[in-house]
Amino acid sequence: MKKKLLYLLGIILSLACLYGVIFYFSFFQGDAYIKDGLVHVNAVKKDGLDQYKPIQTDYKISLPEARPLSDVSFTILGTELPNTIKPLLYGKRYYLPINYISNLFNFTYQNKILKHKDITINLTNKTWLINEKSYNPRGILLNYNNIDYISLSDIEYLFNKTIIFDDEHKSIAILNSSLNKRDAKTLPLKDGKVALLRFEDVTAGSSFESTLSQAKFKAMADSLYKNNLRFNVTWIPRYVNPEKKIDNDLTTSDSFNNIGFINMLDYLINSNGQIGLHGYTHQAGDTSSAVGSELTKTDNSTDAETRKVIESAIYTANYLNIPVYFFESPHYHATANQKKIIGEYFQYQYEPYSILEYTALIQTSNGNLFIPTPLSYVKNRDVTPILKKLKSSPPNFLASMFYHPSLELDYITLSTNNNLFKPTFNESSILQKLIKGFKENDYITIHPTDFNN
Ligand SMILES: [Zn+2]
Repeated sequence: MKKKLLYLLGIILSLACLYGVIFYFSFFQGDAYIKDGLVHVNAVKKDGLDQYKPIQTDYKISLPEARPLSDVSFTILGTELPNTIKPLLYGKRYYLPINYISNLFNFTYQNKILKHKDITINLTNKTWLINEKSYNPRGILLNYNNIDYISLSDIEYLFNKTIIFDDEHKSIAILNSSLNKRDAKTLPLKDGKVALLRFEDVTAGSSFESTLSQAKFKAMADSLYKNNLRFNVTWIPRYVNPEKKIDNDLTTSDSFNNIGFINMLDYLINSNGQIGLHGYTHQAGDTSSAVGSELTKTDNSTDAETRKVIESAIYTANYLNIPVYFFESPHYHATANQKKIIGEYFQYQYEPYSILEYTALIQTSNGNLFIPTPLSYVKNRDVTPILKKLKSSPPNFLASMFYHPSLELDYITLSTNNNLFKPTFNESSILQKLIKGFKENDYITIHPTDFNN
């Protein structure tokens, strides 16, 4: 009798172990690859994803009226903006008159149409048209005292410029970019193996409060864009640091650095970056953003509190017109129930489904997709373990990783000679090593939403 019981226990134990191993190594999910522009992986059933219906979050947003700016100076390709031209602030973005800008860059502007040689840009509707290509403007076509204005972020995209904010002098420089994002065709994803790159803990505080860091992040985005690599960004919408008495709410503050930060997010979006939410403040109680947790079995644990966190974050994104496509709970700490609630708002949950299924892509019956990061992250600035895995990855391994973009800042130098935005990465650059690793091993980086392209 005792022997039988032990035997049974043995079987149960080995089955449990096997189950753990199978899910840990995700034997059944298949290899993720791209063929003819489409992402394929056994674990993802696209018709199941199509069934997903998110909760409608229809927040009423009322932005303050546009107002003239007086305390910020501008240079455009080295020439100071004349006193007669009055920049505006609207919706946490700076604006300049289109007529003035288009003249400067040899375009004509008439009846909401910008023209230069064979380029026609139609600004009539909410979605703008660049020849045949549609473009979702980061700002709006703003009419103020019968003059049309355009946001700095849209100037960057439409005229192939990069704009640098300088918080020391409270000045803004519009520079030429060596990239032509405006006229680039949106090419389908190239054939290859799937990888995902995520920049973690991006917030208007700490490292990226500084406008110099913001400009360096633009350089990183350019570098990825140039290499045809898509990237993802987890954004913490509200930076809180109780010890330093900082609570930076982007919907209420008009600070120069915050406007610079939003302009940087716009630039990342226009460089093939996809943004997602990483909690609302990524902290609770006395802890700081990005250090503390926000969704755990003790933090914001009731359904109502969990919803409040998610909805506050979505409200901020909507207020600032920053489209967000996925959610990642701070430190992956959300409970099963909190993840279920997150899934009502976001189809793409950019974190492991559970401890047991830590490295597998998991699609739920509601059409949610959990995207883990089996490649882990850059620890101690050492990329070697990641590069090794890219070179010889285990079967069915999802090459998905994250790292903190603040780590990269020391390796970038910016030059603005001849009014050209020209970054240089030194040989220690983590980003350049990763880009090389992806390319040499035939990896194509994708967005979470590409799983259903
Ligand atoms: Zn985080």
